Amino acid sequence: MITLKMLQPFCSPKNSTRAFIQNPFHQRPFTYATDGRIIVRCPIIGKGRENTLGAPDVSRLGWGDSITDFREIPHLPEPEMEACPNCLMEDMMDQRTCDKCGGKRKREKSVRIKIGPQEADVYYLRLIAALPEARIDYSDRQRRGWDDLAIKFKFKGGEGLLMPMAPEKTLMKGCR
Ligand SMILES: [Zn+2]
Repeated sequence: MITLKMLQPFCSPKNSTRAFIQNPFHQRPFTYATDGRIIVRCPIIGKGRENTLGAPDVSRLGWGDSITDFREIPHLPEPEMEACPNCLMEDMMDQRTCDKCGGKRKREKSVRIKIGPQEADVYYLRLIAALPEARIDYSDRQRRGWDDLAIKFKFKGGEGLLMPMAPEKTLMKGCR
């Protein structure tokens, strides 16, 4: 059975500026947990809070049926820690409220893991792998816009969506 405690790691860190997603919340008929890059949901758990704190309408993400190819989470390398890249940025006003590390100043080093045609951050795959009977979608379906871009995953008692990492060649071109 999924508990609120199991969903907590999917939330934004405790000290982050995004107060409305620091804990799981209800948007009936589901309880959701998200940090903005990953989101999980399961049938309402406990009493918790309703989505009244400004979290977006999460029911409209790409939860619908589409072509899927669910497989086991691949083998993941041992975690390697590094100084939080977000905290190292010069314009970071107050590191205690860092959305990436919650003020710990350290986070797991980002490693790209291939999931079908996409790449996911090992940090998030580790969170998913900790869920009971977790499986992730390797399908190479037609992808249109945000909803279809997200990588679907499911587990005993719920499901989720994970934003893939941007392809490396896109990053090298930089923003225009
Ligand atoms: Zn940080």
